[in-house]
Amino acid sequence: MTQPSNILTDSFGRKHTYLRISLTEKCNLRCTYCMPENGVPLSPKSDIMTADEIFKIASIFVKNGVTKIRLTGGEPLVRKDFSEILKRLASLNISLSITTNAVLTDRFISDFKSCNLQDINVSLDSLNRDKFVYITRRDQFKKAYQNIIQLLEEGFNVKLNIVLIKNFNDNEIHDFINLTKWLPVSIRFIEFMPFDGNNWNKSKLVTQKEILQTAASYFGNTNILPLKNDAHFTARNYQVNGFKGTFGIISSVSNPFCDSCNRIRLTANGRIKNCLFSNNETNLLHAFRNGENIEPLIQGLIKKKHAIRAGMSDFETLNNPELHNNNRSMITIGG
Ligand code: SAM
Ligand code: SF4
Repeated sequence: MTQPSNILTDSFGRKHTYLRISLTEKCNLRCTYCMPENGVPLSPKSDIMTADEIFKIASIFVKNGVTKIRLTGGEPLVRKDFSEILKRLASLNISLSITTNAVLTDRFISDFKSCNLQDINVSLDSLNRDKFVYITRRDQFKKAYQNIIQLLEEGFNVKLNIVLIKNFNDNEIHDFINLTKWLPVSIRFIEFMPFDGNNWNKSKLVTQKEILQTAASYFGNTNILPLKNDAHFTARNYQVNGFKGTFGIISSVSNPFCDSCNRIRLTANGRIKNCLFSNNETNLLHAFRNGENIEPLIQGLIKKKHAIRAGMSDFETLNNPELHNNNRSMITIGG
């Protein structure tokens, strides 16, 4: 029997059950790959979704089949009403997770626990304080690192996201993997992606192949054990034989994983995006505030989703800077 059509199913049969909500365009760090040096023009406050609007719009997605929500930003924890938003979303009985730079996580441990938020992805691009300061333009290494250890001690599932940039932090690949010897942490190396104003070019890219070669030369080829991928995987995961934690590679640039994509993004100013790389957006908040039914708008954008990376299916097309200048900076998309 054929499945009834669902507004979250695209023309390639992919069902979008995973909603990533950006809570804010603001951040307490200034990562060079994420936001341009002079910052980004922020939406007026009145254009940012309120806690109530986030809850009601998220509820419509849940009613239509979303089972997982990740809170992101900007830095989601700088939002003053973060705890209220979290508590309301927890009442939807879905799987809740967050992506954060960990600078403020110590203040929210009890909220995470009471709302059953177990999965915490943390960005940490260097284990060297000076490099951390250079890449984030802020001196918060100690706080972030201490908070990551605290999250692990408190029993959260922690994944560390590292955006690798050639000749900047690619010499730390083995140091990060070494953390998994004793810590039950998942390291995820992310290929540097092009966005408006982040000075991407392909010479800065460290590819999946290079990361695996570095790992193999340091730990020994036969000690790198491939793990089974999740159904909707973004990271291809591995474990060094005998180590407690794992490491993975998110290769959106050199080897995209679009076939299994189940993600849709809601920006802090209430736009949905069907792909990180797409500059096509639908303003749900405007329609919602006018009392319109937003379901046809959601369906319309899902149906327009391309098979691969917003139509940039090969590396040559992705390599064209013109195509990224009309897209937002990552800080205002919500990674
Ligand atoms: N502030 C939080 C954080 O840093 O984890 C959440 C927002 S941040 C935009 C979400 C994720 O996007 C982070 O893991 C960050 O490393 C990733 N990211 C930002 N810009 C990127 C880029 N140009 N290429 C690859 N990943 C990027
Ligand atoms: Fe802020 Fe996260 Fe972007 Fe860094 S990656 S500037 S922490 S939003």
